[in-house]
Amino acid sequence: MEHLLFMFYKLPAMSSASYTIEILKADITKIIADAIVNAANTSLLGGGGVDGAIHRAGGPEILEQCRKIVARQGGCKTGEAVITTAGRLPAKYVIHTVGPVWNEGKYHEAEKLARCYTNALQLAIDNNCKTIAFPNISTGVYRFPKDIAAKIAVETVSDFLSKTNEIEKVTFVCFDDENSGLYEALLNLDLK
Ligand code: ADP
Repeated sequence: MEHLLFMFYKLPAMSSASYTIEILKADITKIIADAIVNAANTSLLGGGGVDGAIHRAGGPEILEQCRKIVARQGGCKTGEAVITTAGRLPAKYVIHTVGPVWNEGKYHEAEKLARCYTNALQLAIDNNCKTIAFPNISTGVYRFPKDIAAKIAVETVSDFLSKTNEIEKVTFVCFDDENSGLYEALLNLDLK
């Protein structure tokens, strides 16, 4: 099912970083990257959607490590991120972040979603990851409008990457045509 839709390579201009952003239509559990990101919930103990798929495909080791994190710090707050093994997945790590539930935009949801991306990227750097793949956080059962979420994802990630040399490639893994269309349009705009 994996299908490359778009690849964007930013050449290093003076005092800025080079990086690649790609958009894939794929199942994130199949992605080969240093880290894949999970759209988890605050309990860290598993759920449906991409979370369920990651735990199913990655095996029990991921949940074991999540339980240890829960014992240590009591779950994960919205906008924060934690890291575990990727178990049997082809990635090295899973970075679990908790997206905000959309509530008409009245509860700083945009800011919280942006923090998911920056905290996941920072945690990736702290663990020497060079390549990272994101799902479309919060756009499933958390009901974040896909167009707003895609804009936040692309802007936050591009801004972060332009300020660091440590991440080489970010993959946005889209699971539905609406999301992949939105990401493609946004990155095409970026090139103009
Ligand atoms: P949230 O609770 O953050 O909304 P969901 O898992 O319900 O999390 O949905 C987040 C996004 O992940 C949705 O766009 C959904 O279509 C997508 N998704 C679900 N399964 C997968 C998968 N296996 N790989 C990549 N994306 C997935």
